[in-house]
Amino acid sequence: MSALPLTLPFGVLRNGNRLKSFELFSINAGDLNLIQDDTYQKNHPSRWIARTICLCVDSIEGNSVRAEFDREGRKKYPEIVLDLPALDSAFVLYAAHSHLINEKITNVTSVCQMCQRKFTMDIETEDLAREINNDVSIMTSDDTFVVDLMDPYSYPVKDSQILDSNDPIVSLEFRIPTLGDSLKLETEFRDNEIHAEAALLSLVMKSATTTSGNLLKRQEIASVARKIINGVSARDVVAINNAFSRLPHMTPIVSVSCPLCSEDTEVSIRPTVLFPRVTISFSRNRTKE
Ligand SMILES: [Zn+2]
Repeated sequence: MSALPLTLPFGVLRNGNRLKSFELFSINAGDLNLIQDDTYQKNHPSRWIARTICLCVDSIEGNSVRAEFDREGRKKYPEIVLDLPALDSAFVLYAAHSHLINEKITNVTSVCQMCQRKFTMDIETEDLAREINNDVSIMTSDDTFVVDLMDPYSYPVKDSQILDSNDPIVSLEFRIPTLGDSLKLETEFRDNEIHAEAALLSLVMKSATTTSGNLLKRQEIASVARKIINGVSARDVVAINNAFSRLPHMTPIVSVSCPLCSEDTEVSIRPTVLFPRVTISFSRNRTKE
């Protein structure tokens, strides 16, 4: 049994280099208390992740995190944290738990898929490291990927001051979603996942290429990206979503053997089970001593 390595599975791209190694900060009881704020975690999950990372991470390859977060009065997240790919931000939470709290995630409750009974068990954090899909084959060296459209998208004439409606878009380039993207979306789309998905796709759309080979950069398409996502054919948006599902990601699901029936089942490890609050119960009998 060992704690997770302090190496980001994917890394933050900076000037062509992938920054991967990170140092943890020795959090104190006050920090832990902030991390254990269930209401904040429930109402602002992305901000909770960002704040927890800022509290627990000393630095990422020399780029200060905790000190800078404190220096900014904890009102601003350091850029390197905002640029963390989603996969890496989840990994940092598990690694922080394994080093700063416990190599095990204790008292995880689940329902067995075989016997349907509820059970509680401890999960080794290192088991989570196996659930990382690190396949970067669809990515370019720029951390982007391109989806060719099956149905070229013609822009409506009424908006043609931005795009040429006679020169349809044939491919779209996207960049990998980051923690900063989740933060942006959290404030706008808390209760509407379908709109949040379209918003994410338009947020990470980096460029578009047209039939004539014209490359439209982010600044040219930013204001119409949402319209493009809503306008592409149904099969193309499915293809785009499929491409996103092939990006490096972490599945917080661990296969275990059910402690009640011994059959194989799966346990989902949500960040809510990390950094558990320990309830101290004082015995009434103590007053009699
Ligand atoms: Zn069972």
